[in-house]
Amino acid sequence: MDLTIDQLIAELTLEEKISMLAGVDMWHSQAIERLGIPALKVTDGPNGARGIGGVRGKSSASFPVGAAMGATWNVDLIERVGQALAEETRSKGAHILLGPTVNMHRSPLGGRNFESFSEDPYLAQRMAVNYISGLQKQGVGACVKHYLCNDQEYDRYFLSSDVTERALREIYMLPFEGAILEAGSWSVMSSYNRINGTWASEHDRLLLDVLKEEWAFDGLVISDWYGTYSPEVVPGGLDLEMPGPARWMSKAHVKKAIQEGKLGIDQIDDKVRRLLLALQRTGAFDNPSTEEQAVDKPDHRNLIRGVGTEAIVLLKNEGGLLPLDLPAGGRLAVIGANAKVTQFQGGGSSQVKPHYVVSPLDAIKARASGKFVVDYAEGAPMHRNPPALTAANLRSRDGKQGVLLAEFFGSLDLSGEPIYVDHIDTSGFGMFGQIADDFDPTHFSARLSGSFHVSESGQYLFSFGVVGRTGRLSINDELIANLSLNEETLGSVPEYQSHTFEMQLEAGREYTLRMEYVTLPEIQWRAMTLGAEWLERPDPVDEAVELARTADRVVIVAGLTNEWEAEGADRVNMRLPNRQDELIEKVAGVNSNVVVVLNLGSPVEMPWLDQVSGVLHMWYLGQETGNALADVLFGDVSPSGKLPTTFPRRLEDNPSYLNFPGENGHVNYGEGLFIGYRYYEKKNIEPLFPFGFGLSYTQFKYHSLSMPASAQLGETVRVSCEVQNTGSMAGKEVIQLYVRDLESSLVRPLKELKAFAKIDLKPGESKKVEFSLDRRAFSYYDDLKAEWVAEPGKFEILIGSSSRDIHLGGKLLLGE
Ligand code: BGC
Repeated sequence: MDLTIDQLIAELTLEEKISMLAGVDMWHSQAIERLGIPALKVTDGPNGARGIGGVRGKSSASFPVGAAMGATWNVDLIERVGQALAEETRSKGAHILLGPTVNMHRSPLGGRNFESFSEDPYLAQRMAVNYISGLQKQGVGACVKHYLCNDQEYDRYFLSSDVTERALREIYMLPFEGAILEAGSWSVMSSYNRINGTWASEHDRLLLDVLKEEWAFDGLVISDWYGTYSPEVVPGGLDLEMPGPARWMSKAHVKKAIQEGKLGIDQIDDKVRRLLLALQRTGAFDNPSTEEQAVDKPDHRNLIRGVGTEAIVLLKNEGGLLPLDLPAGGRLAVIGANAKVTQFQGGGSSQVKPHYVVSPLDAIKARASGKFVVDYAEGAPMHRNPPALTAANLRSRDGKQGVLLAEFFGSLDLSGEPIYVDHIDTSGFGMFGQIADDFDPTHFSARLSGSFHVSESGQYLFSFGVVGRTGRLSINDELIANLSLNEETLGSVPEYQSHTFEMQLEAGREYTLRMEYVTLPEIQWRAMTLGAEWLERPDPVDEAVELARTADRVVIVAGLTNEWEAEGADRVNMRLPNRQDELIEKVAGVNSNVVVVLNLGSPVEMPWLDQVSGVLHMWYLGQETGNALADVLFGDVSPSGKLPTTFPRRLEDNPSYLNFPGENGHVNYGEGLFIGYRYYEKKNIEPLFPFGFGLSYTQFKYHSLSMPASAQLGETVRVSCEVQNTGSMAGKEVIQLYVRDLESSLVRPLKELKAFAKIDLKPGESKKVEFSLDRRAFSYYDDLKAEWVAEPGKFEILIGSSSRDIHLGGKLLLGE
């Protein structure tokens, strides 16, 4: 960097400055070569750094998702995740990673709950602070998102989250406050939705008064992708409109705002200064290369496996069935579609193309190595729509086995030479933005071609779907579907068009396949898929039950897929989809040694809980999913994850139930402060598993609480206790400290998490755990006074292994 930021601002012309207020494409800001100003490159985020190609580009390390990170309660580990993610981001030539996601688990159905840390703002804040510190120490910027109250997916581009100021401050803003004031995040992403009627990207109170003034944020406010809606963003707190080309931050709009006196040059300079600062902080001036590489590092593999094992939560272990101990030559039945086809991430913009994925089945088989036998059955299929054809069924038009030829054309009618050619191992594609440099997603057409075969003869159900202007399907050169928007329907863009049909197929015969696609400019997500389901398949549940009948032990991996849990839509209910509950009940009916492994990012009802011996909640654990699970299943590591979110017994019990997902453009956060355990505690509703819950293979004893009986308000209150491992196995424990305000002018929750620590104990070992509580730990936000208030009076300190299992406690009198 030859010139200082001030000098650059002095040199830049107004036109150049305006061009820097929006991206040039999906992931880059405008470079000004004349002055040596490089483009800022950003990438998703948050459980990996996926690069421009996304799931079709260079491979990336795939980390456990946010909810899994939250379940570790291990801040040091998450700081190391941040550091590793910085290396990953660099390997993709990017400067800013679009994460972490710190929205709250308000409803168990939130489609992106898997991506965010917790229902508790303090836990989410500690995770965010450490994640961001790890990342930024390595010179890569965080973009903490989505500011604010993007806690559901239904109607996310329009919906207004209507929330009281107190709930905003105490719950929804708290992780952002920590991210800015403690970790110093270099950027923030505004959310898609409105907050109390105003779009986040033009919310002066949130962006200017709170973020930039009160919290003195000096970083860059980036819009969520296409999340700008009106000329109000121009003079507001938004600094960079993404993606490009500019819509509201265009030259015409910005000049108009200047002429109307709404926008001064000093405001433009401020926005540009923030972009330049992000470039400087991330070292972009010195190293402008944005080249992408796949770098699969052994230390990242180990870290990912370690985070995975610490994230797994042991929910039930009757009769000490876990860790699994099979007799020599014994038989272990592994059941479940997710055991074989690993669900290692949720759906949407956070998806990466992993370097590799270890499935639960493969990892379990590797453990068996001749000592015991592993048999597998799928049990209940998981798909929502007929599944895409896979490599085993495909051959490309140019003769390659296991793939289709994918040709992308720069025209809208498949004419000319392809501009990009690839081979893909599934019958479809989905893309968000560019798939390669110089690829214009708003103007292209594509063809997938080759042939397919099936291994079973019979009747098949097909589903052909398209998100775009045109989708055409031909099988054996016969046009089967021609889904096309005509000029009339073009204005009101339907999200998804599909055609289902049945066909009789012969095993082993080759059927030629051609799928053609034409894009539509005004959409973000573009896709074309073909799925097929064999309708005469013998009952897979029966097969699994037969396998389980004679097995010594059974592990069922049940859960969701990214068809069920993904960005863009909330879950439809809180149950395991398809026939999984039936499968578990039937298998438990023939075998008394059943362990259920839940592979999903959020809570689920468990009608079969009393019938099985063991339950592990494993979330989505990234590329090392299978190994992390095997480490816990076979007792190499004692489970130490704790739920970062309450698991209610039934959906109707949850605090947002009457106000979710909202209607007529508004969702009322009617539960106010009482999100998650704050609600279950106050209403005395017993959840299935409480916040903070998680068992271990060993036992811990809490004793020797030490705390003052009284202290002065504002003085740091020091609390300590001893925790001893009284079992026979090494293990980690999360010690949780909750504060209860016994005398308060305003209503308060019965418990609020204010500190926690995770410690490692050998059998018999004891450690002292110390906590410091500052003024904020005792404060509430008074929206009338518009400030945090710590009142003198009686408080209670509660220390436990979950929000409900409180082992130690004492009263504290705070005086003035
Ligand atoms: C998501 C963001 C993401 C962005 C870029 C949006 O749809 O809400 O979280 O960073 O896309 O992919």
